[in-house]
Amino acid sequence: MKTTEFREFHTPTSGIFFRAKRRVFSEKTPFQKMEVYETASHGRVLLLDGLVQTTEKDEFFYHEMLVHPAMMSHPRPRDVLIIGGGDGGALREVLRHLIRGAVLVEIDARVIEVCWKYFPGLAASFGDKRAEIVVDDGNRFIRETDRRFDIILVDSSDPVGPSAVLHQQAFYAALKRRLRPGGVIAAQAGAPLFHLEHLRKKRLFLQRLFSFALYYLGPVPTYPGGLWCYAFLSDRVDPRKSLRKKAPKKLKYYNSDVHRSAFALPEFLKDRPLR
Ligand code: SAM
Repeated sequence: MKTTEFREFHTPTSGIFFRAKRRVFSEKTPFQKMEVYETASHGRVLLLDGLVQTTEKDEFFYHEMLVHPAMMSHPRPRDVLIIGGGDGGALREVLRHLIRGAVLVEIDARVIEVCWKYFPGLAASFGDKRAEIVVDDGNRFIRETDRRFDIILVDSSDPVGPSAVLHQQAFYAALKRRLRPGGVIAAQAGAPLFHLEHLRKKRLFLQRLFSFALYYLGPVPTYPGGLWCYAFLSDRVDPRKSLRKKAPKKLKYYNSDVHRSAFALPEFLKDRPLR
């Protein structure tokens, strides 16, 4: 049977490789190159600019760990903002909670449209009446809106192209102004195996902005290094102490034990005192 292959380099000499049944979609949008492949091992795979964003097989590792530590640490989350997340996975997880509303701000409308068609398991959340979908640059949205949120989730791509600004100090300072008192931010922060210096520098400015600026970890098999780092940011909520009891049903990865262990960092990622 004819197959097609694609690979993503995580370093100049290593990465991930797929032998796919076929490429079902390819388009250059005004922001990035989008591709969708059909694979036997991982189901459908979404690539943006050649980087694996999400696969049907392992997306739940990432989306559950980006969303539920923040949602479950907050005593009563009502209004949620998601920056990025155009594949719909983070929004699906947010809507498992009894919230008032979730605003998703995605810069590229084509990501939403294409994921709606090829990733129904992720994008079905777009039709939920509590969801408000905004097509805009997240950096511009948070500077122009006067709305405030209990939870803000940054589900951006890696710091390249339109996503670069979502990893900078000024963006987090602006995000903080959009948080209600007692609010929580969770953001995908990168690969501890390959981006350690970037993570250390980022933690320094995050610690200047928030009383609690904590990294936590979770596996994502198809991301660089297979282990992913997230940032938990708040001025009042300590996720190691504040944890609501009842997690949503039908989760495949997150639970209270996973929550607690995620904040126990390995030696190489521990918060070293400034030299
Ligand atoms: N889970 C993936 C990961 O960790 O690599 C990212 C998921 S999602 C596909 C990333 C989304 O962020 C993309 O759809 C991209 O278009 C969007 N994005 C990038 N820069 C953005 C910006 N400045 N404002 C809003 N969305 C942005």
